[in-house]
Amino acid sequence: MSSYLKSHPTRDGFFGTYGGADLPPVLQPHFEEISKAYDTISRSAEFIRDLRYIRKHFQGRPTPVSHLKNLSDRCGGAQIYAKREDLNHTGAHKLNHCMAEALLAKHMGKTKLMAETGAGQHGVALATAAAYFGMECEIHMGEIDIAKEAPNVTRMKLLGAEVVPVCFGGRSLKEAVDSAFQSYVPQAETALFAIGSVVGPHPFPMMVRNFQHVVGIEAREQFLEMTGELPDMVGACVGGGSNAMGLFAGFIDDPDVALYGVEPLGTSSNLGDHAATLTYGEDGDIHGFRTMLLKDEAGEPAPVHTVASGLDYPGVGPEHAYLYRSGRATYTAADDKEALKAFYDLSRHEGIIPALESAHAVAFAMREAGKNPGKSILINLSGRGDKDIDYVTETYGFSVD
Ligand SMILES: *Cc1c(COP(=O)(O)O)cnc(C)c1O
Repeated sequence: MSSYLKSHPTRDGFFGTYGGADLPPVLQPHFEEISKAYDTISRSAEFIRDLRYIRKHFQGRPTPVSHLKNLSDRCGGAQIYAKREDLNHTGAHKLNHCMAEALLAKHMGKTKLMAETGAGQHGVALATAAAYFGMECEIHMGEIDIAKEAPNVTRMKLLGAEVVPVCFGGRSLKEAVDSAFQSYVPQAETALFAIGSVVGPHPFPMMVRNFQHVVGIEAREQFLEMTGELPDMVGACVGGGSNAMGLFAGFIDDPDVALYGVEPLGTSSNLGDHAATLTYGEDGDIHGFRTMLLKDEAGEPAPVHTVASGLDYPGVGPEHAYLYRSGRATYTAADDKEALKAFYDLSRHEGIIPALESAHAVAFAMREAGKNPGKSILINLSGRGDKDIDYVTETYGFSVD
């Protein structure tokens, strides 16, 4: 591994002042067990061989890099390229870390995978991994999200997962986290809690980044082969930040490659209307780790909004907070309107319907292209948009202009 990745995080899981594992005593030994298992098992020849096999023969990796020539011509200026995680099995990057987490669970002798899910994307990816390995799967999901995201609930059930409805409080993601952790404690001997992004207590931000690193490794090699150079700018949307960290990890030791995270600006910069955590947030603690947060007046995680439900999170992975403070990466935001325009444009002019989350990265590339003639921009197309087409066309029709 490269020098930055080897030295970040520290052994206790800190990226500068961010990260760590501030856990209730009942959970501490279980996270320590995961940490130890990761350190030993993930380096073993058997694990590496198994994961390579799965990526190639089940997930369909490597995914290609595509030159978005029509979009580049229309924007004028820079050439835009996309790493095609929409072509990864199940249609998004999440399966990269879910398959690896499940493989780790199997090597640890666990028989069950557990998680919470918001929009259901993580639940579907984890249920897929559980089915592949013949493991049980228990997914906690707020009642409100269950009603909103019916197709993903159907997918999870088809894949054999038990979907546990969460009926207290706001009946959404935050309560689903609480409910899933409660259910996990008595089952922790036999189950692995699999976090769905580069968030949560150590070792998850490091582990999920390292499992997503394959995206950046492939993209760097493919881009070099296509163009003979490295990209000038690399960009990805940031919810928790796993698809962005995966791509960034491939270029972080290349000082001439500028890294950009794109946060969702929703409908406005007023608190509650967006989920642009690094752009508008401050230091804080959430779900057992230190990071940057959007807080309400009482100092609690604030309500957030974005058209892309996968980016709907008031915190962000601790490594992004660190890269933001250190200046190694730059964070910018795209609002709902820009993301929707990018969604339509990529569909119409490239024949690729992107996930609304990924459309934020496309919007970033379209905006920057005109300002950077002669340069190249590589974005992560984190997922495909089939899940979003009904919502988008019913709400906005077939174009934004
Ligand atoms: C979940 C999701 C995201 C956001 O998660 P990150 O951890 O920030 O990558 C982005 N794109 C797609 C397609 C997703 O499903």
